[in-house]
Amino acid sequence: HAEMALIRAKELGRDNYAFFTEGMDADSRHRLALQSQLRGAVARGEFCVHYQPKVSLQTGELVGAEALLRWHNAALGHVSPAHFIPVAEEYGLINAIGVWVLDTVCGQIRAWRDQGLGDVRVAVNLSASQFAHADTVPLVEQTLRRHGVPASCLNIEITEGSVMGDPDKSVDALHRLKAIGVGISLDDFGTGYSSLAYLKRFPIDVLKIDKSFVDDVAHAASDAAIALSVISLAHNLNMRVVAEGVETPEQARFLASHGCDAMQGYLYSRPLTVDGFTALLRHPRTLQLNQE
Ligand code: C2E
Ligand code: MG
Ligand code: MG
Ligand code: MG
Repeated sequence: HAEMALIRAKELGRDNYAFFTEGMDADSRHRLALQSQLRGAVARGEFCVHYQPKVSLQTGELVGAEALLRWHNAALGHVSPAHFIPVAEEYGLINAIGVWVLDTVCGQIRAWRDQGLGDVRVAVNLSASQFAHADTVPLVEQTLRRHGVPASCLNIEITEGSVMGDPDKSVDALHRLKAIGVGISLDDFGTGYSSLAYLKRFPIDVLKIDKSFVDDVAHAASDAAIALSVISLAHNLNMRVVAEGVETPEQARFLASHGCDAMQGYLYSRPLTVDGFTALLRHPRTLQLNQE
C-alpha cells in the first residue's frame, strides 16, 4: 500500500509530489493524492454515473435503479467511490460533486422519459455532509424542476450515520424532502446504529438491508434472523425492504419467501452504463426464481 501511494504520488507529477513529505504515512499521502485530483475532476469530465437495477422479488420485474458514481482519472485510473467519497467529504468537495450527480441523474431520467422508456425511479446517494447541508433540499427541488422531472422519479438514499448525527435536524430535512415528493431510503441498514424511536419519526419509504447480512442469509441462522427482523420491522412501520448485494438464487429465494420486496445485486445485474441500462429499459428481463 505504501509503495502504491508513492507510485501514485509520482504519477501526479512534480508539483503534487512536493506535497508528499517524509512524515506522512502512506494512507495520508494517498488521500492527499485523491483530493488533489478530485478538485478538477468535474471540470475535466472524469465522472460518470452507472445504474444498477432494482428488481421486485414478488414479480421479478425491474422496479428502479440506483445511481452509482464512477471516476476515471488519468493519473489514478479507476477509483472506487468507497475510497474517494470519504476523501471528498473530508476535504469539502462532496457538495460540488453531489450537484453534478443530481444534475446528471435528473438529466438522464428526463432523457429516458423523452424516449418513452417509462417512469423509472432512480435513487441517488447522499453522504452525511450533503445531507447536513442547508441547500440540499432546495437543490433537489430546483434540479428536478430544471429538468422537468417529477419528484416521484427520484429517490434519495441516506445512511444511518448521516441521519443519526443530528436526528432532530434530520427529521426536519427528511420531512422537507418528502414534501417535495421524492422517496427516501435508509441505506446499509443495520451497519450503523439507529434509535428505533427515531426510525418511527423518520418519513422513510424503504429500508435497504446491508449486503453483510445478505451474504450468508441462506446459510447462517444469525444473518437470517437479522434479515427477517428487518423485514418485519420495516413492514410494521409501513416501509418496503430492498436487499442489497444479492448474488445467488438461494439468497433471492430465501428473501422472496420471507416477504422482502425487492433486491439489487449481481444476480440480476451489475451496475450498468447508460447504454446498458437503456437497453434493459427497452427489453426488460424478468428475474426467474423458481426455475432451477
Ligand atoms: P451503496 O450506496 O451501499 O451502494 C451499493 C454498493 O454495492 C455499490 O458499490 C454496488 O456496486 C455494490 N453492489 C451492488 N450489488 C452487489 C453485489 O451483488 N455484490 C457486490 N460485491 N457488490 C454489489 P459502489 O458502486 O462501489 O459504491 C460504493 C459506495 O459509494 C456506495 O454504497 C455509496 O455509499 C457510495 N456512493 C456511490 N455513488 C455515490 C454518489 O453519487 N454520492 C455519494 N454521496 N455516495 C456514493
Ligand atoms: Mg446506496
Ligand atoms: Mg447500500
Ligand atoms: Mg452497502
